[in-house]
Amino acid sequence: MTKQNTISFYSHLRAQFKDIYESDHYKEEHFILSPQGVHLFTVKGKLLNFCANNYLGLANHPEIIESARKALDLYGYGMASVRFICGTHEIHKQLEQKISNFLQTEDTILYSSCFDANGGLFETLLTEKDAVISDRLNHASIIDGVRLCKATRFRYNHADMTHLETKLKSAQKYRYRIIATDGVFSMDGDVALLNEICDLADRYNSYVMVDDSHATGFFGNTGRGSIEYRNVINRVGIITSTFGKALGGGSGGFTSGRKEVIDILRQRSRPYLYSNSLSPITTAATLKAIDLISNSRNLIKKLHENVKYFRTSIISAGFKIKPDNHPIVPIMIGDASTAKNVADQLLLEGIYVIAFSYPVVPKDTARIRFQISAAHEKADLEVAVSALENLQPSIINGS
Ligand SMILES: *Cc1c(COP(=O)(O)O)cnc(C)c1O
Repeated sequence: MTKQNTISFYSHLRAQFKDIYESDHYKEEHFILSPQGVHLFTVKGKLLNFCANNYLGLANHPEIIESARKALDLYGYGMASVRFICGTHEIHKQLEQKISNFLQTEDTILYSSCFDANGGLFETLLTEKDAVISDRLNHASIIDGVRLCKATRFRYNHADMTHLETKLKSAQKYRYRIIATDGVFSMDGDVALLNEICDLADRYNSYVMVDDSHATGFFGNTGRGSIEYRNVINRVGIITSTFGKALGGGSGGFTSGRKEVIDILRQRSRPYLYSNSLSPITTAATLKAIDLISNSRNLIKKLHENVKYFRTSIISAGFKIKPDNHPIVPIMIGDASTAKNVADQLLLEGIYVIAFSYPVVPKDTARIRFQISAAHEKADLEVAVSALENLQPSIINGS
């Protein structure tokens, strides 16, 4: 670039940044000074945490830390290779097998993240002869994954089964059709209507893909996710999910399903072929996380009780919340600056929650999102409930 052009490029970026900053869409990063958990030391003092995806409190569970330590001793730190060159340990295969058993699928392939699992999925399986029918509120990684493939894209209004059916009718002329949906939508905590989606898929000869990142490990009776909650375990063709939330919260993701699907992903999926293997530390820790969940329902039960207590209490306090028994509990405020004020006020009382507003959620549906964990004690939840009860009644009425 010429010097002139370079100067212009930087000034273009500065203007864009200024715009973000001045329109209240700037995302600040708050430093936390202690390990992830319910009680955090941060630059803003000691906070009670309600905004992590640490649903089972496994992020710093002693047995997980111990497994990670052992893996470090046994396998060392780095893989420095992709899987098919010299990046596969026995524990990678064990983790794939364990996930397949857990989700009752035939095979599983690991990725560095669920973002990568979704990014490497559609392009590998579909061509311009095919179609993807996607919920409008799907996670950015599904949207990007679909963008990378040449299949025709249809979008249906969020959770609108009539609209999905219309789109399926339009997509009949394509060779193969995949309906793609989040299992649980992170901004509302609502669960995809997977039983109805599977019925429609049967009627319109389509395949179903679910990204269960906000459900794997803790949601449903035994933690199999939204597919268990909606009773469709063997009806969903492809499941993608993350290790970065309930399953220890380190990093990594996977795609699980039929052998034919996983076989071809292993040969062709670009984020798998061209990106580093999951570190042994994360792999071993995730294996332990799945063992902990499989061997005892205690954490899932405690999470369930916490969610029930919190939801019931804030409904009695007069707040409107969306149904479904998910630990994501958005408190609907409406106005963006009111939501921000509420979050700031809660922060002053030591409660760490985030306000979400446009463009992350639709205009005038700003909200405060609470995320409940099995690591919360009843006393922690009581603190949050009483802080919410003490908010101005006008805020509740505005909801
Ligand atoms: C969090 C999330 C992801 C991203 O997972 P990573 O493993 O952190 O990349 C993908 N999809 C959904 C639905 C998510 O909630």
